[in-house]
Amino acid sequence: MNIQSEFGRCAVFADRDGTMGGDYYVKRPQDYAPYPGTREAFQILRDEKIPAFVVTNQSCVARGLDGGYDFAAEFRGIGATDWFICPHDDEDGCNCRKPGTGLIEQARDRHHLDLSCCYMVGDRWSDMVAGGRMNMRLVLVQTGRGNDSLSSERTKWADYEPAFVAVNLLEAVRWIVEEERCNTRPATE
Ligand SMILES: [Mg+2]
Ligand SMILES: [Zn+2]
Repeated sequence: MNIQSEFGRCAVFADRDGTMGGDYYVKRPQDYAPYPGTREAFQILRDEKIPAFVVTNQSCVARGLDGGYDFAAEFRGIGATDWFICPHDDEDGCNCRKPGTGLIEQARDRHHLDLSCCYMVGDRWSDMVAGGRMNMRLVLVQTGRGNDSLSSERTKWADYEPAFVAVNLLEAVRWIVEEERCNTRPATE
């Protein structure tokens, strides 16, 4: 199924920990709870028929700390269109752990996306680099480690500029919806 031809719109990719919810550093997936506004953000995307993908590094799986946590139930429950999880640790040398681009490529290939008009929303340099490498529009949120990303960690993604810096995911989604309204105004000729 070609989601973009069905919806006629681009897609939003969201990081989980520090972007959708959780704490400064989520060690175990069970410790996560969505931020205020995250459910509303996903609801807005659903109402606007904009596909919402979760792309998340979960080295807790490689470290045996996930306790069989049911990510699929969580992401289905919040209304994500699909989700892509890197279960590896740094030493596994995979290509899906962000800033690797493997998760984004999996989403692109499964859903036939034109990434150049998709948005990567995240709180860390690794989200920005992964999205930037794939030519996506970048939105940094100031939740999680977002403020570090704008200051002490800014050099780690110095090659890229965010299209927008949002207070949180909800503000990011509202901004994206406005952008898409502008982009999809009917041509006058
Ligand atoms: Mg994060
Ligand atoms: Zn991986």
